[in-house]
Amino acid sequence: MSNASTSNDRDFKITVFPGDGIGLEVMDAAQAVLAAVQDKVGGFCLIHDLHDAGAGLYRDTGTALSEESIRAAEASDAILLGACGLPDVRYPDGTEIAPQIDLRFHFNLYAGLRPCKAIPNGPKALADPRADDIDFILIRESTEGLFAARGKGVVIEDREARDTMVITRDVSERLFDFAFNLATQRKAAGYPGKVTLIDKANVFSSMAFFRKIFDERAVNFPDIEAEYLYVDAAALNLVRNPWIYDVMVTENMFGDILSDQAAALVGGMGFAPSADIGDNMAVFQPAHGTAPDIAGKGWANPTAMIQSAAMMLDWLGSRHGVDACTEAGRLIDNAMEKAISGGLIRTYDAGGSDGTDKVAKTVIELLRSS
Ligand code: ATP
Repeated sequence: MSNASTSNDRDFKITVFPGDGIGLEVMDAAQAVLAAVQDKVGGFCLIHDLHDAGAGLYRDTGTALSEESIRAAEASDAILLGACGLPDVRYPDGTEIAPQIDLRFHFNLYAGLRPCKAIPNGPKALADPRADDIDFILIRESTEGLFAARGKGVVIEDREARDTMVITRDVSERLFDFAFNLATQRKAAGYPGKVTLIDKANVFSSMAFFRKIFDERAVNFPDIEAEYLYVDAAALNLVRNPWIYDVMVTENMFGDILSDQAAALVGGMGFAPSADIGDNMAVFQPAHGTAPDIAGKGWANPTAMIQSAAMMLDWLGSRHGVDACTEAGRLIDNAMEKAISGGLIRTYDAGGSDGTDKVAKTVIELLRSS
């Protein structure tokens, strides 16, 4: 039986940026799934406030993210984002149109969560049977690191170029506390309780400082194992034995690269959800881009977008103490997993022929019948 929303529901205002390319397609799918789960569970109501942002908007108006949209986002409870950017639309310096990065900086969303979890019978890159046990979260610091140089790098007389890495104590302390708290929560749910710092402390002062702060914060979490891994070894181990990790935490640029590698382990970008979380706001979006090669064909895999929407419900639920919201997120995850592991869907990027609509419809049917 459906529990339609009532006027007593807890309302959450969500700023929705579908973006460009397949962002629009996967967002439609996620919004349909959100409506279905809200109807199923009841007890909360999402008010979707739709805004244009991205390369298309920049091409048409000269701005990628308007002041009005930023003000709307500031007044909302969470932000849901599809994907932004088009290959032929660039800023004058040649860099990509990426309002998602602007949002991370504007709202201080320092903790970029990139879960990497194998789904039974789902796509996998590794033949080793232990690949079924891959289940870790990579936290990518998302407001500084090498990305702090974005828009500030210099090219000197066409002779040399410089971009500067920034690591601050303030952000690093919050980042590591977030990582250790997450590992503590996961440990209560049966995970090992381990945080792995990925750095390059053997070469860079910035990374040695990063590690020093990690050590200082680790002392406050004696029940959690703290270990280090150089970034080059991390790249190796993510292929060799990724099932040994629980929570990994790293600098912005390293996280950018390694999270794509992690996505490849469990089916690729179409299966890689993400959340950029700060102390007062969060953006939920798939880790993939706008995939111009398949945009408009109906082939985009909306799994990552739908899972990101589930992460949003989980975050809203725990932040505001609304259990119905947390439950709704769990139901979406279960339905998504059931659809894949039960062989009900096989998307194009996993070698099948099920498009965006088929995935959304299957997940919605499973939600209704759960
Ligand atoms: P960005 O620089 O914004 O991260 P990108 O160009 O590196 O983007 P994506 O757009 O994420 O890369 O995708 C690379 C390729 O992966 C796409 O061209 C597409 O073929 C595939 N891909 C990405 N996301 C999806 C998806 N959701 N469904 C199906 N295929 C996808």
